[in-house]
Amino acid sequence: MAAALMGLALPMMAPMTTAEDNNPFFEEWTTPHGAPPFSNIENAHYKPAFERAFAENRAEINAIANNPAAPTFENTIAALDKGGKLLNKVSGVFYNLTSSHSNDEMRAIQSEISAMFSRHTNDTLFNKKLFDRVDALYQKRDSLGLNAEQQRMLWRTHLDFTRAGANLDEAAKAELAKLNEEISGLTIKFGQNVLAATNAFEMVVDKEADLAGLPDFVIAAAASTAEDRGQPGKWMFTSTRSSFTPFMTFSTRRDLREKMHKGYMARGEKGSAHDNTGLVKQILKARQKRAELLGYKNHAEFQMADRMMGHPDRAFELLNRIWAPALEKAKEERAMLQAMVREEGHDFDLQPWDWWHYAEKVRKAKYDLDEQAVKPYFVLNNVRDGAFKTANKLWGLTFKQRTDIDTYHEDVQVFEVYEKDGSYLGLFLADYHPRASKRGGAWNNSFRAQTKVDGKVTPIVVNVMSFPKGSGDVPPLLSADNASTLFHEFGHAMHTLMSEVTYGRLNSLAWDFVEFPSQIFEGWAFEPEMLREYAKHYKTGEVLPESMIERMEAASKFNQGFATVEYVSAALMDMMWHTRKISDDTDVAAFEKSLLDEIGLIDEIVVRYRTPYFNHAFGGAAYAAGYYTYLWSEVLSADAYATFSEEGLFNQEVAARLRTSILEPRGARDPMEMFEEFKGRPYKLDAILEARGLTD
Ligand SMILES: [Zn+2]
Repeated sequence: MAAALMGLALPMMAPMTTAEDNNPFFEEWTTPHGAPPFSNIENAHYKPAFERAFAENRAEINAIANNPAAPTFENTIAALDKGGKLLNKVSGVFYNLTSSHSNDEMRAIQSEISAMFSRHTNDTLFNKKLFDRVDALYQKRDSLGLNAEQQRMLWRTHLDFTRAGANLDEAAKAELAKLNEEISGLTIKFGQNVLAATNAFEMVVDKEADLAGLPDFVIAAAASTAEDRGQPGKWMFTSTRSSFTPFMTFSTRRDLREKMHKGYMARGEKGSAHDNTGLVKQILKARQKRAELLGYKNHAEFQMADRMMGHPDRAFELLNRIWAPALEKAKEERAMLQAMVREEGHDFDLQPWDWWHYAEKVRKAKYDLDEQAVKPYFVLNNVRDGAFKTANKLWGLTFKQRTDIDTYHEDVQVFEVYEKDGSYLGLFLADYHPRASKRGGAWNNSFRAQTKVDGKVTPIVVNVMSFPKGSGDVPPLLSADNASTLFHEFGHAMHTLMSEVTYGRLNSLAWDFVEFPSQIFEGWAFEPEMLREYAKHYKTGEVLPESMIERMEAASKFNQGFATVEYVSAALMDMMWHTRKISDDTDVAAFEKSLLDEIGLIDEIVVRYRTPYFNHAFGGAAYAAGYYTYLWSEVLSADAYATFSEEGLFNQEVAARLRTSILEPRGARDPMEMFEEFKGRPYKLDAILEARGLTD
């Protein structure tokens, strides 16, 4: 089948030019495990490779759409999935390196390629003949004799088309395109306004007395901001999070904290220079219209139709269930902070601009831990080996370093991953250090994803981070947070390496499921049993003292009533905005207040993002009616990890179940069903309440 399609592709290809000669993307990779021959790939190879890849895939898709034979799962759904091999091959390399090892030339190609990509995707999703075949199969899905994975694949493929509007008539399609464009323009404008409003607020300080309480690093940053903005010799504070939070935490000047807080909270409000309230209403109305056009009741239903949560009711249920214990805890914390205010001899009632400041005082007194004292115990390579050891104890996996496999940078380490029985699983690349060609942050990605649809393809995955190198006799050392990040990304890598899907499309995950499997791995990082294996002082070999671990754990529970209430109120507000109808007369601020009154938010805590600067909800697509997802993955991972805590950290039966119920199926099954199969029941909140200290 694939060969026949490829044959059809040939007449459509651009004529060969010299630029295409010796293009490694057009050759079969005979490297170990088919790893990309990085040293042979040059910038000039990408564009011709993409051009040929799009043409080949276009020909494959046309052949499927125009196939005179009646549609079958094999000749339509599976055939679509088998296509695009060259596109996967070149995308795998290109989209990894644009993040981890880029240059100006690649960035220039990138914008060109991304325009080509969206044209290609649109041409496919709006191919009427193709959709008719997919739809014909979907309408009789129960009588096709499909197995569970094929049913999921048919559902997924059909939904890709219908969410793009493939089943609308021409007039409705045009309206949809207009709405998409409108929403995208409005959300960009919203984000720009947030940025402008954030930059517009400045608090200039020219007397040292006004810096009272601030640590040196905060003062230095404020001096350099003032210098940058043309007021050398003064200090300037802005409403960016990195200026706002330290000021609120450390400043002993209550009047200035109030000023700062009010400036921060007023960004984008009605009547201000960067008023975002009109845009909020326009965005909500356009989203509502689009949802209805596509057959959904509201934007939240549209967003969640292919997410793990499935329906807004489920998100409300989650958020409401955690709200009550969080609010109760926050009220206890409020009382504690108020007592501290009195102890200091003041008689004022705690206000929102006091919370960070007094919380920091309590934290320092009770839980202070010196980051620098912990670092010598977390040697980068040992932490990495600790993650390997975890996979070994869970599933018997082993990691064998290869120094003879080509990489894209000398810092990249390559490991073959083997099963307990010695069979080969996949390739793991570790790229841990920062460099100018790499963007910030930490992530996991694939150069090649696992599939079985057209012969066995083994995965090639990479973890990318930016941990400082060592110097002199000191090896690279990690903070406790960094160690946790390494385990987290390694969890993504395990999830990608253990994939057992047939169809490539099912490698992609429900958006609100992605972080759950990786987050489970953070649990093992700080288990005393694992720390004894890998957290040893680089000079003395002494294991990280348990007292430090206990202190870290206690600190992680501190002020969680506040953090949870601040977050959940925003998550609830996001869901409320996207499930309720508004009108032209709606007053955004009054509406926001009524939503927050409805849940009983206390006056001393302000919602984490007020509506006019809630970028997650109004400044982009993914997090609208999706801000809940941070909490959701934490709920699931805490609940899942609790099974290991209860039945044995390396209980082989539980480990095997994690693999078969959660990691291997990836997107091939309903994620809620997968979780419940692993856990033996629906999710509960006990574990997260415990982890956040919200139980007592
Ligand atoms: Zn992650």
